[in-house]
Amino acid sequence: MNWQELAEKMVQTQIAARGITDERVLEAMRRVPRHLFVPEPHRNEAYADYPLPIGHGQTISQPFIVALMCSLLGLQGDEKVLEVGTGSGYQAAVLAHLAREVHTIERIPALAEQAAQRLAELGLENVHVHIGDGSLGLPKEAPFEGILIAAAAPRVPQPLLEQLNEGGRLVAPVGSRGWQVLERWTRRGNSWERETYDSVAFVPLIGEHGWEG
Ligand code: SAM
Repeated sequence: MNWQELAEKMVQTQIAARGITDERVLEAMRRVPRHLFVPEPHRNEAYADYPLPIGHGQTISQPFIVALMCSLLGLQGDEKVLEVGTGSGYQAAVLAHLAREVHTIERIPALAEQAAQRLAELGLENVHVHIGDGSLGLPKEAPFEGILIAAAAPRVPQPLLEQLNEGGRLVAPVGSRGWQVLERWTRRGNSWERETYDSVAFVPLIGEHGWEG
């Protein structure tokens, strides 16, 4: 099978089959060559139904979780979005097909640099990679219509809630270092509505409003 066939099979059997119906998300997942974001020796497992190591003790998330988090943001295409935890750059590439402008921030410089190179090679000019502590958000680019935290937080960082604009949504795994629940927070003026979804297991968010390193 070529990679497009593997991506199509992944979308049908892992994502649509589990109830993701947002056609824009399904199409974005078909279009991004996931194998280019997975280093050897795991590249031949790139379209499998689990997370994979990307070096530096970090992971690229399971395809279904990437799709679920993107669909919870409910993007229409004209949004400015922040991702915390660039990792391989894969989820940022998916978001690039769903939003107008994507900012993604990673604390490990080597991962950020590799991701930026991959995203540039794919011609995804609406993604901007930053290096730093994303638990503080990205005040110089705020506000955002969507924020996605791709690392486990003990609680949702207050600076990130404040960088949402009215009606904006934040999706994050929140809980202990071992397991978390996906939460979606929606801004309504100066209060935030919280909904809970699936159980997940992410690597920790390390930083001022996350866990200690
Ligand atoms: N979205 C990524 C992808 O598509 O490959 C997967 C992200 S991986 C599960 C979590 C990432 O969050 C790791 O690369 C880790 O270094 C990063 N991270 C952890 N704490 C962070 C922080 N405070 N700011 C920015 N990145 C952070």
